Amino acid sequence: MTAASTARTDALRALTIPSELLPSDGRFGSGPSRVRDAQMEALSSVSRTVMGTSHRQAPVKQVVARVRQGLAELFSLPEGYEVVLGNGGSTAFWDVAAYGLIEKRSQHLVLGEFSQKFAAETAGAPHLAEPEVIRAEPGSCPAPRVSEDVDAYAWPHNETSTGVMVPVARPEGAREDQLVLVDATSVAGAAQVDVSATDAYYFAPQKAFASDGGLWLAILSPAAIERAERLGTAEDRWIPSFLSLTAAIDNSRKDQTLNTPAVATLVLMAEQIEWMLSQGGLAWADSRTRTTSGMLQAWAERRGEITPFVADPAARSQVVTTLDVDDSIDATAITSVLRSHGVVDIEPYRKLGRNQLRIATFPAVDEQDVAALIAVLDHVLDRSADAVS
Ligand SMILES: *Cc1c(COP(=O)(O)O)cnc(C)c1O
Repeated sequence: MTAASTARTDALRALTIPSELLPSDGRFGSGPSRVRDAQMEALSSVSRTVMGTSHRQAPVKQVVARVRQGLAELFSLPEGYEVVLGNGGSTAFWDVAAYGLIEKRSQHLVLGEFSQKFAAETAGAPHLAEPEVIRAEPGSCPAPRVSEDVDAYAWPHNETSTGVMVPVARPEGAREDQLVLVDATSVAGAAQVDVSATDAYYFAPQKAFASDGGLWLAILSPAAIERAERLGTAEDRWIPSFLSLTAAIDNSRKDQTLNTPAVATLVLMAEQIEWMLSQGGLAWADSRTRTTSGMLQAWAERRGEITPFVADPAARSQVVTTLDVDDSIDATAITSVLRSHGVVDIEPYRKLGRNQLRIATFPAVDEQDVAALIAVLDHVLDRSADAVS
């Protein structure tokens, strides 16, 4: 750090942001993410009738049914596809898939922390062969390659650690018995997608669905269900019961989970899905998140100190915008002055280790709040520059 940049850091940390500039809601995190007030009100309205009641009885099962039916409508569920859920978040689903969907060998696109974690699971699984891994530098977007040797292709729809979106389409020339497993954890519900191009489109509730963590949800194709049933009864494979996909399928068909779910998570999620549907469904969510992320990209273009981390505009995420800050300015001084004013969670992904801002624009984040965030960022950059000039 030069003397000038130390002075800039001090100036940033000392700033007071006028309250009229602040967004109405300061949560811009990539997950857990902003929960709308109306969801919290809906939760409190069922505090005596659903919360604290049995998950094997109608009131909670009806909430699970609302989630499953709402997702079926939101994603225009293709014939024969099913909405399946279980406990443990998307991280648990990687292990569910390693036991119940991958037969011998998988191919993984690895372009950041989340995609790396799934590849590490299958690499460590003693019943699977070493996976095929196609790696790309953080911030760039690789493509799957058709391979004779694999029975599943895996990649993230949105690599939340870097802000890169990967197209969802079956690799051209892939065989019918090769499954496509797409980790859609942060972008599911925020972007248009053709789920018939996938065999498992899976996610968790605490990102675009504005709910709390702890569950995984997967939209499964008939081929995936058939694979799960075959592997689930194979004599040469032991599957821990908590990670059994067939058990999850059986329970989901009855609007239940294998073991006790977080009921509040389900209520918040049902509310958010129905709100999205009432706004215009996936087409509406897609349009809003393109607008709001586009506002941030346009801002970056305007500011000399800010550069999009993802160089290729076509690979930039519409829900997680990653913006590098010029080395002369300490990004942690920016995020900390915003945090002290209630504008939170725009720090970069911890392991990426860059001088960066990472801003989520999930469907619950409206245009006005993004405009206000931009005004706040302009304010702190301009005022701190004035203070040291
Ligand atoms: C957040 C995230 C996960 C992890 O989700 P958990 O519910 O915390 O397990 C996995 N993949 C992606 C792409 C994510 O954004």
